[in-house]
Amino acid sequence: MLFPDLTSRRADIAIRDGIITEIGVQLAKSGDEQTVDVSGHLVLPGFVDTHRHMWLGVLSASSSGVPLFPYVQQINEGHGDPFTTEDVYAGVLWGALQAIHAGVTTVADWAHNLGSPADIDANMRALVDSGIRARVYFGGKASSSGDPGLFEGHAREMLTSHTAAGSGRIGLGLGLRGPSMSSPEETERDFALARDMGLPISIHAGMAGLPGAVEQLHQQGLLGADVNYVHANEFTQREWELIAQSGGTVTATPTVDLTMGLGVHPATGPALSHGIPVGLGADTVAYGPSDLFGEMRLVLATERARANAAPIARGEMPGELVYGHLDLLDVATRGGARVVGLPDLAGEIAVGRYADLITVDLDAPHLDGFDDPVLAAFLSAGPSDVDTVVIDGRVLKRGGKLSGAVAERARELMRASRDRIKARRT
Ligand SMILES: [Zn+2]
Repeated sequence: MLFPDLTSRRADIAIRDGIITEIGVQLAKSGDEQTVDVSGHLVLPGFVDTHRHMWLGVLSASSSGVPLFPYVQQINEGHGDPFTTEDVYAGVLWGALQAIHAGVTTVADWAHNLGSPADIDANMRALVDSGIRARVYFGGKASSSGDPGLFEGHAREMLTSHTAAGSGRIGLGLGLRGPSMSSPEETERDFALARDMGLPISIHAGMAGLPGAVEQLHQQGLLGADVNYVHANEFTQREWELIAQSGGTVTATPTVDLTMGLGVHPATGPALSHGIPVGLGADTVAYGPSDLFGEMRLVLATERARANAAPIARGEMPGELVYGHLDLLDVATRGGARVVGLPDLAGEIAVGRYADLITVDLDAPHLDGFDDPVLAAFLSAGPSDVDTVVIDGRVLKRGGKLSGAVAERARELMRASRDRIKARRT
């Protein structure tokens, strides 16, 4: 599953054209290849973040302590609506570098701050320029999130021009309003548009106070294996069964789910128990952290709290505990790869898969575990501990630092964008 397996502590990984071609001890060298020495590091598959609004990169840590609708007013409408095309490029590029820095190699970008064809182009260029692997779910403009009207007119052109520009690293989808945010007629039209173009769908659904989304889709005959349900905290048992039967997938965004009050527990447990592919997402760095190490730990704590509630209520100590660290690593890598439609290509270190890898430097005192480096990383690692990030065979972070000119340029663009945003606020 994870590499190296827990008994084999030394190996080389050969990469050609962005694909892992060989894994073994002391592989033969031809002499002209680039080598990256990561001795003493733990090598893991890069994380697959299955739901993140990338344009919010420039607005990281800008909101806290408010529920969903005041958040939408403050961030999406207050800051997002006046975004210029330059702000979109700066936000998405900086957001992508935040993700790469944290060890995310594939991200599902729920791109819902696009007001013009130029904005769409800027969003795509930023992802391509960052080097990250992405699936972009186009979701309209912030104040009307998930209305694909703008995208519709440009969709076919985008499908051909930008997948080529991204060298296959960028896939497309539609981020739709869904039953929680639109009328049944709009939902039917939106879903028909996505299916007519053969694009996968992502919707926000199952949040507290907004019940019945899956039931409504079922009644409209719109459920399908092409739908990803984000948050999914408060689905009923019947809704979970409908998703399982239809082959849909789920994304949990644990920090945002729980701290914003979208649900009491993350959706991971019910998804796993129904055999539904589930991934983790940071959702919004305006409100939560940009790494999945912390999200995995939060899921483990909250899923155990859910399972332990009954024995504790009886005055007993739980006799056994649910889930382990490898289960959560699996959700954040292979699970995510299934959710974004790359089940055989991403999320795992194996021959024939994308060369999307991260290394964790185990030298630091908090990572110097007794005899299980994977457990040590799970328990204590964060973005700064990610030493090296390789995406599509390209080294994008090395020695703990983002590499290349794009990182410096992104920082300058981010600062200029923040200045514009702050000037508009006053
Ligand atoms: Zn979201």
